[in-house]
Amino acid sequence: MEATKPVLLTVDDDPGVSRAVARDLRRRYGHDYRVVRAESGPEALEALREIKLRGDAVAVLLADYRMPQMSGLEFLEQAMDLFPNARRALLTAYADTDAAIQAINVIDLDHYLLKPWEPPSEKLYPVIDELIELWRAAGDQPVTATQVVGHRWSARSYEVRDFLARNSVSYRWLPADEPEGRRLLEAAGLDESSVPLVVTPGGDALVDPGVEELAARVGLSTSPATDFYDTVIVGGGPAGLGAATYAASEGLRTVLVEREATGGQAGQSTRIENYLGFPDGIGGAQLTDRARRQAARFGAEILTAAEVTGLEARGSSRVVRLADGGEVAAHTVVLATGVAYHTLEVPGADRLTGRGIFYGSAATEAPACADEDVYVVGGANSAGQAAVFLSRHARRVTLLVRDDALERSMSHYLVRQIRDSANVAVRVNTVVAEAAGGEHLERLRLCDTATGRVEEVPAAYLFVFIGAAPCTGWLDDPIRRDAKGFVVTGPDLLVGGKRPRGWPLDRDPYYLEASLPGVFAAGDARANSVKRVASAVGEGAMAIQLVHRYLEAQ
Ligand SMILES: Cc1cc2nc3c(=O)[nH]c(=O)nc-3n(C[C@H](O)[C@H](O)[C@H](O)COP(=O)(O)OP(=O)(O)OC[C@H]3O[C@@H](n4cnc5c(N)ncnc54)[C@H](O)[C@@H]3O)c2cc1C
Repeated sequence: MEATKPVLLTVDDDPGVSRAVARDLRRRYGHDYRVVRAESGPEALEALREIKLRGDAVAVLLADYRMPQMSGLEFLEQAMDLFPNARRALLTAYADTDAAIQAINVIDLDHYLLKPWEPPSEKLYPVIDELIELWRAAGDQPVTATQVVGHRWSARSYEVRDFLARNSVSYRWLPADEPEGRRLLEAAGLDESSVPLVVTPGGDALVDPGVEELAARVGLSTSPATDFYDTVIVGGGPAGLGAATYAASEGLRTVLVEREATGGQAGQSTRIENYLGFPDGIGGAQLTDRARRQAARFGAEILTAAEVTGLEARGSSRVVRLADGGEVAAHTVVLATGVAYHTLEVPGADRLTGRGIFYGSAATEAPACADEDVYVVGGANSAGQAAVFLSRHARRVTLLVRDDALERSMSHYLVRQIRDSANVAVRVNTVVAEAAGGEHLERLRLCDTATGRVEEVPAAYLFVFIGAAPCTGWLDDPIRRDAKGFVVTGPDLLVGGKRPRGWPLDRDPYYLEASLPGVFAAGDARANSVKRVASAVGEGAMAIQLVHRYLEAQ
């Protein structure tokens, strides 16, 4: 959003005077500043609250001294709470100059101006010029991003920030107990109990919004533009984004439906070192953000905060149902729902999730870990990457591994990076037995599985990477899944050379095709897939080739 002009605000209870000041200000400053006028203190404060929420800056406040409802001094005092950097001047009659002089100390007044101020070129503009100069020196800037006011240790505040970050929506984070956070709450007429508060660039204040509302209000698409497509892709990780890019680039009417934020697991990976073409590695969010833009540029429609809850065949159409009751129909469906993290099932972990315990969000939380001792649970690559990444921010990182050696489950290059990091320690044979704390995580009880010894350690942060299960619980017959819930496809569906029960066609299922013709699976959610970004992208692309083959045979 483009920055708007900073504001010069004038308030005078005499409408004639108020209009005259505004007119003179506009004449000289209107090109670079927005002149706002009010006829009472409360009206001016209301205008300032709105300006605050819109993220605009206020350069100068010019208030009449004598006003019936609220004096100019009272107004300026309250206005300072909202815009401490705005410069302040009083308009006074000759008889009130003593009071104005006293106010210089009381409210840190910059100037007082005597009425009348004719000619403005001599009596008004030099003063305003100087005030603007002073304001500029303070470096005050309008805010064009979404603003989030919340508590550091509130799970909901964390969810809102995580959602915005993962959807590449830039935002400004303001702790509710710091001055600017308090100012925004006051401007919205709220207090600390109402966080998280999200203020959109347009100045709308959303109190504790759900993801659907948040997505829609920050400009993300949440519902389909039409009701029929060539292909619906479910899931916006590397597999889904790969499929969307190839489908749209090859002219298929394509919609991708993502329940949270595009990027999937890869979007939460702090550094992907083994993706072809990036010899120096690439941040997962950066890679998947590029992929999202690429898919969109080819014309794929991307819906976020839209969860798919069902799939059915209606004649030759394949219809996916959405959690909000909507439906999207297409000739074909690509299931690319990936996997979701296992949660830590120990006492205290559930209550402290988002309050010191995080799943896969090392990148979002890392800056807050500066000078802290943090713990990472898990022995696979995702845990290793997080440990290496966090070591650049935290004082010390301890990796907790259930096995007796890291080498068993982690790539060699990561093991080496961990060994080379001076502030990363590895504790093998160790599991978390309990998490404890009041408002946020304060302590962990760690159990040494070899000796049975339990130790309590102080801890403010715990990042959990302990495996994952496929996001396919919403699928039912006829989509066949294996014992762990992964979607079975292609040759794996042929048992003893026989096609799956109910298979209606006179051909075998294509390589990535599920047990319902026209439905394909790609990436981590597919049984026997290789759990890697490159293979997920490759399967997404391959699924689209099979979609073409399916459509040609229709
Ligand atoms: C921290 C971490 C680091 C990793 N590092 C690497 C690495 O360095 N190199 C590498 O090759 N691999 C790495 N991986 C593995 C890699 O990220 C995955 O293999 C890859 O992301 C799988 O892609 P996918 O699209 O199949 O699934 P996912 O990435 O899991 O994406 C699935 C998407 O589907 C969405 N979804 C699920 N259910 C629904 C539904 N019902 N409706 C709508 N949307 C839904 C999810 O929200 C998600 O966005 C890492 C994984 C993690 C967790």
